Amino acid sequence: MSRNKFIFVVGGVMSSVGKGIAAASVGTILKSKGFKVTALKCDPYVNVDAGTMNPTEHGEVFVTRDGDECDQDMGNYERFLGESLTRMNYMTTGRVYQSVIEKERNLEYGGACVQVVPHVPEEIINRIKKATKEAEAEITIIEIGGTVGEYENLLFLEAARELKLKNPTDVIFMLVSYLPIPSKVGEMKTKPTQHASRELNSCGIQPDFILCRSDHPIDSKRREKLATFCSIEPDHAISAPDVESIYDIPVNFENEKFGDKILKSLSLKPRQKDLVEWRTFVEKAKNATKIVKIGIVGKYFETGEYVLSDSYISVIESVKIAAWTQNLKPEFQWLSSTTYEEHPEKLKELKNLDGIIVPGGFGSRGIEGKIAVAKYCREHKIPYFGLCYGMQIATIEFARNVCGLKGAHTEEIDPKSPYPVIHIMPEQKEKMRRKDYGGSMRLGNYACELKKGTLSYSAYKQYGLPTMDSQFPIIYERHRHRYEYNNEYREQLEEAGLMTAGTNPERDLVEIVEVENHPFMVGVQFHPEFDSQPLKPQALFMAFIKAASQQSKV
Ligand code: GLN
Repeated sequence: MSRNKFIFVVGGVMSSVGKGIAAASVGTILKSKGFKVTALKCDPYVNVDAGTMNPTEHGEVFVTRDGDECDQDMGNYERFLGESLTRMNYMTTGRVYQSVIEKERNLEYGGACVQVVPHVPEEIINRIKKATKEAEAEITIIEIGGTVGEYENLLFLEAARELKLKNPTDVIFMLVSYLPIPSKVGEMKTKPTQHASRELNSCGIQPDFILCRSDHPIDSKRREKLATFCSIEPDHAISAPDVESIYDIPVNFENEKFGDKILKSLSLKPRQKDLVEWRTFVEKAKNATKIVKIGIVGKYFETGEYVLSDSYISVIESVKIAAWTQNLKPEFQWLSSTTYEEHPEKLKELKNLDGIIVPGGFGSRGIEGKIAVAKYCREHKIPYFGLCYGMQIATIEFARNVCGLKGAHTEEIDPKSPYPVIHIMPEQKEKMRRKDYGGSMRLGNYACELKKGTLSYSAYKQYGLPTMDSQFPIIYERHRHRYEYNNEYREQLEEAGLMTAGTNPERDLVEIVEVENHPFMVGVQFHPEFDSQPLKPQALFMAFIKAASQQSKV
């Protein structure tokens, strides 16, 4: 195909209606119909990336293979598209301006007066085209963050308008809107969506499709209304009711033949039968009955479950994916780490769980609680999976309670610890001194050589990708940290039974630890949760869930 096609996804009425998932689902469908698809996210805020934002407020910071710290929607794109994206697939207002200013300073505008319009939308369009080219995509989906009518996302909408103006047959727009059903009225209302569509019109944009988010499916009367007032085809109002699992959405969309409608709008024809593998995955998820109970120890729980699930979304999705793939039904328990500091007697409740995850984190709040959880899991042989901070915590616990190194700690919390079993990496020390915090951690993919005979080695051997085989046992996983296992204590820890199961070949950094004679106590310095997709479950999550299911208390 010679011409690139672009689909812009914008939001109307209110935020948090699942615009990202809708955009990602469109990607799943089009890919399944035989097209090379990529997706971009445009975030309107001024931060250059999401790395400096508080996950409690903003949700998880996702990390791409090339080390970009970005919005959690990028994780949804990767999971739904089954593709790895790069930093070119993510932009913020801050990042766009940063490039424009850099170019101006480098005299790349040839003496012109650099203006908000046209130069900022021009930069946005260039980025969209570059990402398209890099991914060799035929269809590019671009989600514009925020809601129409806001001041913040206007320049992104302007870029979209200009791209359409120059390529009228290659660009379409989807408005993801919300249709409330007020309880006292009992009827689905289209008026807010009509306003949102008008608002979009005032930016020079006409939606081609309206995705109708609501509690219920949209009926024919509402379709007609939207068609008349928003100038769309009646069958271009697509029903998007609440669903039990986000992975059902592509299937629901396809029930309305959404994919073929999109392709027709772009003058394309489907090339193959759609969603075959995806449907198998969704069916497995629906039919799973045997429960596997997983506890996730975090420190954000006090603010409620909603925030929790946003802060740890990739971990949660990875558990679901690994469980469903093995015909198991995951049940989650959110465990607040501070609870175990105040009420150590509650530790024994962990016995009711099949497996515990201590995910990534920063800072001191709740750390002693997490260490206590690690100790309990080690002593009671409960499967434990430590991700990044969770690996560091398992190491500290082992040093303190098995090796007898009283006061062992990470330098992040106790710089004066007599036994800094986790210490800052030298280059990070220098960065901290310069107050260079943004995008400066050890980020993205690094190699890890697995040690034969370990649980991790067998997990990757059993569940890893076929493409991995040529270089096995070298694997690549994503990182985001400043502190690291201290090799000075390696011999002592290994002798006492904390195996080194994986190391980075270039720097001999310990990337995986495993407790000997335990069903599954594995800590990884990286973030396997970022590389876990429905059609490609992550190896260690598969092994962890398997070990947990063998413990199953139900
Ligand atoms: N705080 C730890 C570090 O910086 C772990 C980071 C993480 O869990 N992502 O090394």
